[in-house]
Amino acid sequence: MSLRDELSTFESGRLVLSVVGMPHVCPAVPIEFTTMTDARFRELDNGEDVEIIYTYPIPQLHSVDAVDEWIGPWFADRNITTHIDFNFASVNADAKVIHTEDGKRLSYDLLVGVPEFKPSPLIAESGLGETWMEVDKHTFESDHADDVFGAGDVTNIPTSKAGSVAHYTAGTIVDRVAALARANTPQTIFNGDSICFIQAGTDTGSHMSFQYDAEPVIRDETEFVHWAKLT
Ligand SMILES: Cc1cc2nc3c(=O)[nH]c(=O)nc-3n(C[C@H](O)[C@H](O)[C@H](O)COP(=O)(O)OP(=O)(O)OC[C@H]3O[C@@H](n4cnc5c(N)ncnc54)[C@H](O)[C@@H]3O)c2cc1C
Repeated sequence: MSLRDELSTFESGRLVLSVVGMPHVCPAVPIEFTTMTDARFRELDNGEDVEIIYTYPIPQLHSVDAVDEWIGPWFADRNITTHIDFNFASVNADAKVIHTEDGKRLSYDLLVGVPEFKPSPLIAESGLGETWMEVDKHTFESDHADDVFGAGDVTNIPTSKAGSVAHYTAGTIVDRVAALARANTPQTIFNGDSICFIQAGTDTGSHMSFQYDAEPVIRDETEFVHWAKLT
């Protein structure tokens, strides 16, 4: 059964959103899932019957400090229980219990896990990096092969694994390849400038901008950003 079908028939009990490993794709995913399911159950009038629990594997609610500070009060206002430093070891699907590395147990009725993202072993096999595809973070040229560029989640650039980052990096690569094709010296470089939309509940959204050398900044939630994300 798909998660959508499971959620549409889930009327009461404990729903656990657990970030199982890091890095995971899309830093917004656990926040969006938790805030949207909470809002949805409230709209359906069974907010009282569904207990939502959010778990995260490091000692704060999110790896981005600005998100951690923003989302703490949001979760507290809506009675969303949180467990930080919660490191998933195994799950007993028959008993519906998660076991952590330090021996804790957490039962659930519905478990939604956000898995660790790992790049394809093809990268290492092809000599393009030990695990991640190793590229220059400003030009995306491979550290290991001439005339090879890398973009997206599989690269080692020090930023989020997000579609928006892949989108912004693509422009730099296109400019550089076009310059090389014209026998010019490529001038465009990437400084990590990206924006990520974050849905907060079902009718507002926030967004976060970040760069390699600046701490991410999170903006106020607005209905406009919610619509911008939908489009
Ligand atoms: C549920 C979810 C929600 C998300 N929401 C957002 C969001 O709101 N905003 C945001 O910015 N990001 C979001 N992301 C993250 C975003 O989807 C990824 O960061 C983005 O797709 C990365 O782009 P990519 O091109 O690097 O990889 P992908 O989009 O994963 O594309 C890689 C492609 O390579 C193919 N491939 C893999 N191995 C091989 C092979 N050996 N041979 C041939 N082809 C192969 C795959 O089939 C795939 O088509 C979300 C991700 C998930 C899972």
